[in-house]
Amino acid sequence: MGKMTGPALWERALRVLPGGVSSPVRAFRSVGGEPFFSERGEGAFLYDTQGRRYVDYVLSWGPLILGHAHPEVVEAVERAARSGLTFGTPTPAEVELAELIIELVPSVEVVRFVSSGTEATMSAVRLARGATGRDRILKFDGCYHGHADSFLVQAGSGVATLGLPDSPGIPAALSGLTSSVPFNDLDAVETSLRRFPGEFAAVIVEPVMGNVGLIEPVDGFLAGLRELTRAHGTLLIFDEVMTGFRVSLGGAQKRYGVDPDLTTLGKVVGGGLPVAAFGGSREVMEQVAPAGPVYQAGTLSGNPLGMAAGLAQLRVLARERPYESLERRTAQLVDGIVRAATERGVPISAAQAGSMWGVDFTDGPVIDYAAAKRTDAVFFSAYFRECLKRGVFFAPSPFEAGFLSTAHEPEHIERTLEAVRESLDASVVR
Ligand SMILES: *Cc1c(COP(=O)(O)O)cnc(C)c1O
Repeated sequence: MGKMTGPALWERALRVLPGGVSSPVRAFRSVGGEPFFSERGEGAFLYDTQGRRYVDYVLSWGPLILGHAHPEVVEAVERAARSGLTFGTPTPAEVELAELIIELVPSVEVVRFVSSGTEATMSAVRLARGATGRDRILKFDGCYHGHADSFLVQAGSGVATLGLPDSPGIPAALSGLTSSVPFNDLDAVETSLRRFPGEFAAVIVEPVMGNVGLIEPVDGFLAGLRELTRAHGTLLIFDEVMTGFRVSLGGAQKRYGVDPDLTTLGKVVGGGLPVAAFGGSREVMEQVAPAGPVYQAGTLSGNPLGMAAGLAQLRVLARERPYESLERRTAQLVDGIVRAATERGVPISAAQAGSMWGVDFTDGPVIDYAAAKRTDAVFFSAYFRECLKRGVFFAPSPFEAGFLSTAHEPEHIERTLEAVRESLDASVVR
């Protein structure tokens, strides 16, 4: 058999995987064309099966803040693997990783490890319901909290990309317990909480929205949520699956100075392996089984390879504190894209929080999902494909954030901006 090539693989994939993929946005549906198959990643680069190289701004959708195959992370995983892949007993590494998370994330005193961000948010909501004895939850339009039933109401990420209505398969009795209001709108939050007094277990929010492009909280929004939830006896959950260890070493709660009751973590915390976590105050977390009655469990939870990868990555971050440099380089990229678009008369609105960023091809400001939806998706598709041709991999959807890693050097960004200028020229209809 010859070397497997992309197109042949894609045909095979379409036969055996729904839509050819294991997660929807990977299929490139909203930008057209076929996805490439990755063979290898190194630092800022991804190499496909055809031997092409891309500067990668997707970075596996967030986890790879140190770039692909960081030597310290890979070594830690190799070392762990040689000692066994999973034990089903407590291990030292999970205690060490929990201690490090608690040291870094201001509001977290006790942690439970799980295997995906979805599991973390799902479990945090169960805990909030168990701890308060209430059933309703409040979320924000365009926020994505994974694919558990309660969250697929006005959700971002793939749901936004594919323009899906709320997913079939979710009982109305359950989705009816989820309310969704516009991000950055405290009046709407207060109105909802007042409408069902004493019924909301939790308000869950991405403190920086990263699943409809990027939207920052306006001044006072997160602090206002803190006050309102406290006044209503409702728990505040920061879904920091994307922002944790990304927008600062202590996450969004550190960056914006607002402490939630519960925090969910994923992506960066696992160093590229399937690790996520939820945590909070001792009082609330000790409601989780076996310390308390709220059930939650997992065969591979706290998996030794995942713990090793997460520990290695967080230790590098805690030692090197690369956040200022990441933020500066991300600004170099985002400012460059905005300048290039503006010079060509292309409407653009951009936002950045640390090394997370997003651009919308629309006039700003974009402070909620309704505004983000005004982005020119047709223009985005053309721009995306032109960039990809030139070896720059941006997320294949206008509704996803971009990321930067410590492996992205200023010269990579300069080359990217060159490709962006050419791609904008090629995408503008004359
Ligand atoms: C990615 C993400 C999730 C879901 O995590 P998975 O590991 O994909 O299940 C949840 N919340 C936020 C904010 C995310 O960005």
